[in-house]
Amino acid sequence: MSVTFFFENDQVKHAAEECYCCDPSNPGADCPVCKGTGSFLYSERVNSLNVHNRGASMLLSAMGLDGSDLYGEEKVETFKNLLNQAFGRARLYHEPAVDVGGLGTGRVRVISPEIGEDYMTSRLFNLKKLVTAAERAGADYIHWG
Ligand SMILES: [Zn+2]
Repeated sequence: MSVTFFFENDQVKHAAEECYCCDPSNPGADCPVCKGTGSFLYSERVNSLNVHNRGASMLLSAMGLDGSDLYGEEKVETFKNLLNQAFGRARLYHEPAVDVGGLGTGRVRVISPEIGEDYMTSRLFNLKKLVTAAERAGADYIHWG
């Protein structure tokens, strides 16, 4: 599961991707994803940032926001101020890798990477780029969810 940080009036890019549900070279007419075309239209906001839930929770907490609520919005100016303060706290956030599921558990194995200062700082810089793009676009709010 992941959280996307974005602003509303960001540019949206569209791209056709090969179907992941059926064999794109021999698509099934009843495929729910591509409906027999072998591809589907994918769109995303150009400057959006996708972060796994644990990372998003820690980034929001480092910014002084509620890290247990992964849906929210904040005015761009406020978000920018909180973000700048979070850089000084990046080293305080550390979690070892999490490995769940796997053979014998009946669940898919998921390895979530270690989160440390490097992870936090790198994602905070990504969020800073998002804020800069939001300011250039005249956006009012940064949203996440
Ligand atoms: Zn398909």
